[in-house]
Amino acid sequence: MNFLEYAPAPESTAILNLRKSYGLFIGGEFVQGHGTPFQTISPATEASIAEISNATAVDVDLAVASARRAYDTVWSRLSGADRGKYLFRIARLVQERARELAVAESLDNCKTIKESRDVDVPLVAAWFFYYAGWADKLDHVGIGPNPRALGVAAQVIPWNFPLLMLAWKIAPALAAGNTVVLKPAETTPLTALIFAEILQQADLPVGVVNIITGAGDTGAALVNHPDVNKVAFTGSTAVGRAIAKSTAGTGKKLTLELGGKAANIVFDDAPIDQAIEGIVNGIFFNQGQVCCAGSRLLVQENVHDQVVERLKERLSTLRVGNPLDKNTDVGAINSRVQLDRIRQLSAIGEEEGAVRWSPECTLPDKGFWFAPTIFTNVSTSHRIARDEIFGPVLSVLTFRTPAEAIAKANNTPYGLSAGIWSDKGSKILAVADKLRAGVVWANTFNQFDPASPFGGYKESGYGREGGKQGLTAYLQSGSAAVQPVTGQRIKKSITKGVK
Ligand code: NAP
Ligand code: MG
Repeated sequence: MNFLEYAPAPESTAILNLRKSYGLFIGGEFVQGHGTPFQTISPATEASIAEISNATAVDVDLAVASARRAYDTVWSRLSGADRGKYLFRIARLVQERARELAVAESLDNCKTIKESRDVDVPLVAAWFFYYAGWADKLDHVGIGPNPRALGVAAQVIPWNFPLLMLAWKIAPALAAGNTVVLKPAETTPLTALIFAEILQQADLPVGVVNIITGAGDTGAALVNHPDVNKVAFTGSTAVGRAIAKSTAGTGKKLTLELGGKAANIVFDDAPIDQAIEGIVNGIFFNQGQVCCAGSRLLVQENVHDQVVERLKERLSTLRVGNPLDKNTDVGAINSRVQLDRIRQLSAIGEEEGAVRWSPECTLPDKGFWFAPTIFTNVSTSHRIARDEIFGPVLSVLTFRTPAEAIAKANNTPYGLSAGIWSDKGSKILAVADKLRAGVVWANTFNQFDPASPFGGYKESGYGREGGKQGLTAYLQSGSAAVQPVTGQRIKKSITKGVK
């Protein structure tokens, strides 16, 4: 036992007011889906949380029809200022219910409460506030005057940031004047369903946002629905590729946010203490289940031993366990499938000759757990240096010159993010300029802001989310737009009009 051991400090789940079973959120109400319901479980304990409805193609049809009606009859007619008021309302309600949302997220996804409380949920509110501000300023997005919405947006999101990915999708779509059908991941539907209750509370016109739960089949039926105008997808490169194929030639506008294998580059003049914290944040935040995770550490050769030693010391202090405990640093892996993938790739790392290390830590018997892991002696050809592991596994490589660091960093089919650690601003700028990555962090990592566009190069996808760039994905230029009804007041007679 450490001499400074923490006492348990679990966050209470008493704040949750969960239903035993959740329907699909279509036309402003929870309705039963036509498929066989499934359970969402807590990955830390494998205990059931709630029964979740399963949407079939019939339900997808209903949801898209509901979004179309809401688009035609209400949402496309509201002024930007009025759409903005709804978004502000949603943002405020997210803040009011922040603790409940954080607890639900940590229960269903098993990210630590520290993260869901201090990162995910505050960013969700920030995203809605930010796009609320844009709703009446679309002329300034940069695609000419009077831009028009696209219509119905089909949005499919993954399980690693369930509520945050929902906000990244829904906030810009609504601000731009589109209506939405969103499918959360099969393993993490809970916060999207609580969010549906928030939409009811906000009196959002019915059908403007529809949330349908289910697995990959439901997602495929949604993105392939003929009455959808826009597809926004975040997930794996394999599924993204399939969606790009199936939507090609249909006229649907498509954005893809896919995988990554980010380089986190540490130069010998870097402030090492900060760099160690940044490396830990880069790969162990959300158990490394982050598309922009700093999963490839590139360390300048002359400081390699020092950095690895300090990193091991720091990792030995990480607390792995109950995600709802406020002191926990590393929670559970989201599913057995994901755990198996992490185990398999780590085993391949050892077989290929990399040296594996984990701190001593006792993992719970039940649930899906993986100890924080570092691989040294990694070369660029190793699978663990090429494949996205999407878990708490860091591959350490070395370089001698900035040119070699750049070459190695870019030696990947992905290009989502990168980090640079150095005392020299000019060196950081020169290197950042040559990195083929959508986001480059300097002396920090995993910083997100709604005003800052995020997205990838190459197999990390295309399109940007966040900032005004994130709005262009939901707009078309043109002057033939339906003139919005200006000065319309938000009241029940408007909001209840569409069924
Ligand atoms: P995934 O299998 O691609 O799933 C993502 C979403 O797509 C889920 O809702 C999934 O449903 C659904 N889906 C599955 N098959 C589909 C199909 N044929 N058509 C339409 N939708 C389908 O990805 P994952 O393994 O769950 O998530 C991890 C991956 O997402 C990683 O590769 C990660 O890098 C990437 N990611 C990228 C970003 C980014 O911003 N670039 C952010 C987060 C994650 P079910 O879950 O119900 O099967
Ligand atoms: Mg779950």
